[in-house]
Amino acid sequence: MVQKDCIFCKIANRELNTEFIAEGEDYVSFKDISPQAPVHALVIPKRHYSSLNEVDDMELLGRLMKGAQKTAEKLGTGDNYRVVINTGEGAGQSVFHIHVHVLGGRVMQWPPG
Ligand code: 5GP
Ligand code: ZN
Repeated sequence: MVQKDCIFCKIANRELNTEFIAEGEDYVSFKDISPQAPVHALVIPKRHYSSLNEVDDMELLGRLMKGAQKTAEKLGTGDNYRVVINTGEGAGQSVFHIHVHVLGGRVMQWPPG
């Protein structure tokens, strides 16, 4: 369930005193340490999955999306925000505990690089 040395497992287990924006039974959200927009938060499951490819619990994915909605609302994005899951190094994944980025507070460009 918990992967040793995984920074996001530590955050989810409250080992690092991270302030949570939203919390559900099986997820938490918190601000990104290196924000790429005025609003930039991450929603993660408490259970460790290294990437989207490892998740077979589709209801969990739905709850992560609900967590993204709540996080965006609490951080005041209004109706304009972006949800991103980078999957694999080539797609920009750098932390291998699945996380949903919630970005907002500015106009977003498309396509992303
Ligand atoms: P990825 O590149 O895997 O899609 O996203 C990882 C994100 O996690 C990055 O935006 C990075 O800034 C963020 N991040 C990495 N380490 C930490 C940390 O210790 N605390 C927080 N709050 N965010 C982190
Ligand atoms: Zn983990």
